[in-house]
Amino acid sequence: MKIVLLGPPGAGKGSLAALIKDHFKIWHISTGDILREEISKVSPLAAEIKSYIEYGNLVPDTLITKIVDQKLTYGLRPEEGFMLDGYPRTAAQAEDLDKILKKTGSSLDLVLDLETSLNLIVKRITGRRICRKCRAVYHISNHPPKVANICDTCQGALHQRADDNEETVKTRMEIYAHTTAPILDYYRKHDKLHTIDGDEETLVLFQEFVQFVNENKEFHKN
Ligand code: ADP
Repeated sequence: MKIVLLGPPGAGKGSLAALIKDHFKIWHISTGDILREEISKVSPLAAEIKSYIEYGNLVPDTLITKIVDQKLTYGLRPEEGFMLDGYPRTAAQAEDLDKILKKTGSSLDLVLDLETSLNLIVKRITGRRICRKCRAVYHISNHPPKVANICDTCQGALHQRADDNEETVKTRMEIYAHTTAPILDYYRKHDKLHTIDGDEETLVLFQEFVQFVNENKEFHKN
């Protein structure tokens, strides 16, 4: 199964991805997580990436495509399935992804689009907390940890992402509307797009997705 998760920031891509990954045993490739890991190092590249992310801007296409190319071309075996979360985000990245997959003799099965209301997005993003150790995602009111600020799974410390503030969210939403949303048409034309209601609870979305996959057996081919 080779899929892309699309949707605005705060649509719940990461939470849904965690359930899909465990259930279908496919790789979860989150470009946001990869970039944040890179930022945690001290290097000129880390400083460059930080200068984009902290203001909610996209990192350049060439940089992110190189990272994704390495993961998909050298990091996975051809028969292994994956779920891309946070890539592609521009028309150029969508075309680059097709080229990368063509090179490895494969193509996408599906693009899952989480259509989400604007008012929910800000609430979800400003209340979001992430585990520093295992990157599990929590929300202070929708999905709080059992012990405040401690991860239920690995007991790691929870923190708020530096770019999860109202100001940066505005920029990220504008970029989504102008740059990312138009690629939905690209996938619609290629008959790959499946839109779901991102306002729903993650568990409901997950159950609907499992049912969708069961009804479309071609997803089980890899
Ligand atoms: P969200 O979906 O909540 O915006 P992500 O974790 O996917 O969060 O991304 C965080 C940030 O990382 C983005 O705002 C952007 O700066 C950078 N980023 C992630 N993926 C890409 C990409 N494909 N192209 C350019 N920048 C990216």
